[in-house]
Amino acid sequence: MNIYYSPLKKIKLLNPEYPNKSTGIINGKSSGLLNWNDIAYPQMYDLYQTLLSNFWKAQEINMQDDIKQWDQLSSTEQDVFLRINTQLASLDSLQTPTMTQVMDYVTDSSFKAIFAVIAQQEAVHNESYSYILSSLVPVSEQKARFNQAKKDPIVQKRNQLILDAYEQFKEKPAPQHLFQLAVNSINLEGIYFYAGFAFFYHLARQQKMLKTSTMISYIQRDEMQHAYFIAQFIRILLTENPDLNNAKNIEYVNHAIAQAVELEKEWASYILRDIKGIDLKEYEFYTEYLANKRLRQMGLDNLFAERSNPMPWIHVFSDEMMNGTKSDFFEQKSRTYAKVTQSNGFDEL
Ligand code: ZN
Ligand code: ZN
Repeated sequence: MNIYYSPLKKIKLLNPEYPNKSTGIINGKSSGLLNWNDIAYPQMYDLYQTLLSNFWKAQEINMQDDIKQWDQLSSTEQDVFLRINTQLASLDSLQTPTMTQVMDYVTDSSFKAIFAVIAQQEAVHNESYSYILSSLVPVSEQKARFNQAKKDPIVQKRNQLILDAYEQFKEKPAPQHLFQLAVNSINLEGIYFYAGFAFFYHLARQQKMLKTSTMISYIQRDEMQHAYFIAQFIRILLTENPDLNNAKNIEYVNHAIAQAVELEKEWASYILRDIKGIDLKEYEFYTEYLANKRLRQMGLDNLFAERSNPMPWIHVFSDEMMNGTKSDFFEQKSRTYAKVTQSNGFDEL
């Protein structure tokens, strides 16, 4: 059988006869000890540091203002707010255990550490959606909304693309399936969240529910970093395993991203259809713009017509947006943890 379809073995915790610096991200020889000063890809330490400097937790954000504003939202706004909240939570729920599972098969300890941090951040994201919900609606409604997210056919359809790749790796953790899992992680982290983000920022543009938007902006900052890391992971995986770097897999990436774009457009036109002020055609272009960006991060060509960001107000962490934002939008302390600089270059994420 082709080695790329034969299952990876769960890695032993300690292999003292092997070097500490792994000889590969998968199927490598690695002692299991992590010395950050002796790793195969030193840039991973910067990435790890950036992830840590983004640290935040939901309880840092006082929801009092949003609680006061909640009753002033229209019933449509409230409904969409709750649907999106639980839909985003359902995406993050998949991501925590998946990132943890990948750690069992990745031989490079520095990558394992980064997957661990990502898993922790996904757990915080998941919690923050519950935190927002618990501030605004009684527990009976929270439960109903989570059940609604599980049953929604459009949510199910879009999640299926991700789930299929994740389950495939779970059933058979082969290198090819790890590659496919990573591509779909980019779909989840880098494309699927954005119709939801757009809605919350749209409210924020009207000075509504700013605490929720602040939390969403922290989540977005994390997700951008995750998508960037996973794109780097894919590039290294393909470089180290040239047989994975074949025309069929490049086609796989293009096809999977194109599918995610279609599903995201479908979801956006369904969930945002009654929200005045969000131009759905423009959002479709935005989705394509995002997809191109993800492809370029993976070292591939644009799949869609090249265009500048059609909805720059979704991209909160670009310098332009910061300057153009009312100062009370981001008063929380987390910004002092990690300022946007040339070197961490959020604009590139
Ligand atoms: Zn997340
Ligand atoms: Zn993420």
